[in-house]
Amino acid sequence: MKNIVLLGAPGAGKGTQAALIREEFHIPHISTGDILRRNIKEGTPLGVTAKKYIDAGELVPDDVVIGLVELRLKEDDCKDGYILDGFPRTIPQAESLDKVARIDVALNIDVPFDVIMERMSGRRVCACGETYHVSTLGDATTCQKCGKELFIRDDDRPETVENRLRVYEKQTAPLIDYYRKQGKLKDVNAVGEIDKIFEDVKKALI
Ligand code: AMP
Repeated sequence: MKNIVLLGAPGAGKGTQAALIREEFHIPHISTGDILRRNIKEGTPLGVTAKKYIDAGELVPDDVVIGLVELRLKEDDCKDGYILDGFPRTIPQAESLDKVARIDVALNIDVPFDVIMERMSGRRVCACGETYHVSTLGDATTCQKCGKELFIRDDDRPETVENRLRVYEKQTAPLIDYYRKQGKLKDVNAVGEIDKIFEDVKKALI
């Protein structure tokens, strides 16, 4: 299988598509956001550093995330391919990645700005990692998989969302051109049904 990078604004649905790719192709889903949140929960030194940035909607410094991704890619389960979700997020991160890995494809999960705002403001998450949207939850306030109470990520609050989108435009969107120039970019129009989007994702990965 391939070494895949998922690009796209926060709230575009990278995590959802990454989980589907993992199930279909049996390759690990490496989300830097998930790794950082786990560290925050466990109170590790990395978590303490990361929390300040995440809560402000800023990016965690490059050297911190680059170090943790390099370590993760050395693990045995990455030898037959992997999906990077939320990394790289800056040009220096992409350049560091190119020194230690051979990326085959960069999937750009493409969603218009107004849809992103709507999705992020309605996102509800569970500690187990499941993600929901208020439009499909009805009156439910607990996770359909594990039963725990759902909550709003601190960085999904409106003031933080705006900053995250500004940071995305400035620091992460240039990666689209970076991978296009390398001939690795595939665009997927990611508005609509999750399963239909996944069909397009699979076509782009063949
Ligand atoms: P995510 O779950 O991918 O939206 O990430 C949540 C937050 O974690 C981001 O807003 C950043 O503060 C931080 N983060 C995740 N991945 C990276 C990265 N590759 N570089 C810098 N910060 C990151």
